[in-house]
Amino acid sequence: MELDGQPEIGLAASDREIVIEVEQLTKTFGALSVLNGIDLKVRRSEVVCIIGPSGSGKSTFLRCMAFLDPYTGGRVSIEGQLLGYRQTGGHQIPQSHRELAKVRRNVGMVFQHFNLWPHMTALENVALALRVTRKLKSQQADKEAREALAKVGLGDKADNYPSQLSGGQQQRVAIARALAMKPHVILFDEPTSALDPELVGEVLGVMRQLAEEGMTMAIVTHEMGFAAQMADTVVFMDKGVILEKGSPDEIFKTPRNDRLKQFLDTWRSRALD
Ligand code: ADP
Ligand code: MG
Repeated sequence: MELDGQPEIGLAASDREIVIEVEQLTKTFGALSVLNGIDLKVRRSEVVCIIGPSGSGKSTFLRCMAFLDPYTGGRVSIEGQLLGYRQTGGHQIPQSHRELAKVRRNVGMVFQHFNLWPHMTALENVALALRVTRKLKSQQADKEAREALAKVGLGDKADNYPSQLSGGQQQRVAIARALAMKPHVILFDEPTSALDPELVGEVLGVMRQLAEEGMTMAIVTHEMGFAAQMADTVVFMDKGVILEKGSPDEIFKTPRNDRLKQFLDTWRSRALD
């Protein structure tokens, strides 16, 4: 299967096209300020891993990047197009469902809980999205769904129901469902956190393969080993802001921020338990 959004191999990361641009992003839930001014650029073929303590706003940040949660301030642009709002004069007014769908059609999402339909087979789960969102006819949807399942190593499980699949396999179906839409970027929210430890590797393996093929990805994760190995950029969030951003070496070997140092120490002492 061809990936859209070709890797611009040969270009320095900083010269590649910006796929997602987040500027001064804020988000409140009632009186609670969850995101407090976030700036981030995700470039073509870049893998950005987002780490940070529970409750720091990582999921909300990711959801705002796809406008599953409407953000309250700042802006998010996908491939140069404003997401969620339309600029008219000095005002931003909400986009219609149709406009919104158009801007985010190239953004895929994979969640911690795979959200598969239990009454549909793996094939049907993947094909459904293609029929509804890309308006493909059944036959073509099934064909592309099979290709996506093969890509995540589940070509032989197409007719299994979720209950007949392990957690790792279910998450791979969810990745196939995202991939089948031929996204230009995929956002992952703790894709391995709900899995038994022995099933984590197969999901990370699929993500590694996507990264190597040049897929652009933003990944909220607690898998520090994966982040250290696969990320181009690691972002540390706490209390709704980015406290430090850098290469895996900078973040994991020479962290500067005290909260980050503390977070990594806690993680290391747990990992040794
Ligand atoms: P993380 O993913 O880093 O654990 P979240 O983004 O899930 O953090 O949550 C950040 C904060 O926002 C938490 O205090 C959480 O309780 C709050 N929050 C998240 N979603 C909602 C919501 N739908 N309504 C109200 N508060 C929310
Ligand atoms: Mg979360």
